[in-house]
Amino acid sequence: MAKVLILSGAGISAESGISTFRDSDGLWENHKIEDVCTVGCLDVNEEATKNFYDARRADIKDKKPNYAHKLIVQIKQKYPNDIYVFTQNIDDMFEKAGIKKNEIIHLHGYLLEIRCRKCEKLYEIGYQKQDDFLDDCISCGGKLRPHIVFFGENAPMYEVLNYELNTCDLIVVIGTSSNVLDVTYFAQLVDKSILNNLEPSDAIDDTYFTKVIYAPATQAIAEITEYIEYFIENN
Ligand code: NAD
Repeated sequence: MAKVLILSGAGISAESGISTFRDSDGLWENHKIEDVCTVGCLDVNEEATKNFYDARRADIKDKKPNYAHKLIVQIKQKYPNDIYVFTQNIDDMFEKAGIKKNEIIHLHGYLLEIRCRKCEKLYEIGYQKQDDFLDDCISCGGKLRPHIVFFGENAPMYEVLNYELNTCDLIVVIGTSSNVLDVTYFAQLVDKSILNNLEPSDAIDDTYFTKVIYAPATQAIAEITEYIEYFIENN
């Protein structure tokens, strides 16, 4: 049976009005990455880091999923056992489009959760500010932190991604510059591959992809999901 892996990045949420990352000179909403999402930032910059993720939560509260999120959720739910959905995004656009918790893996964490720095207990914070939600962990009294994988930190879900990559037949990459995850390498592990970005990225060699679409995700997604459906039905 054919197995399909869909991997998205910040670009898929751009048309929902959520800023990407490297499209704006390596700044994210005018913040230097080193200040608010690099290992150790909670020790040297705790307030700024907390404020940054509080603001990201507030920012996505009223944002809506776009056509690309919606079609991916639809096709995942039509072929639940053939399609694996991974995202580098920390927003909740797929969830707002109806995906269930066990149908998606957030490789870099999830804005609507915080966790204890000591015992790792997870809390659902919704769109609240961290300080308004809880001071410390109710289980162990430890300090809380955004449930986000900072640069330089271990990303436990990469292990799941690597496993699935090695057994999948088609990979679909949407809206990532590939500065974090090497999608050119991923394309070489599978039979067929699709790349959709707005424009070429210096970090991607698109000659390794079977199909390349440089267009907004909402315009490309119908063709992509038709390809996936045909691939699953015929393999
Ligand atoms: P990136 O910002 O580095 O690259 C964005 C990519 O999306 C570019 O290649 C660009 O061509 C493409 N793009 C832009 N608009 C598009 C559109 N409408 N349709 C299709 N493609 C489009 O993003 P990244 O590679 O995901 O790396 C950023 C990291 O920062 C991620 O790991 C993520 O955790 C984090 N981040 C997340 C969000 C979010 O959750 N929405 C937003 C910003 C950053």
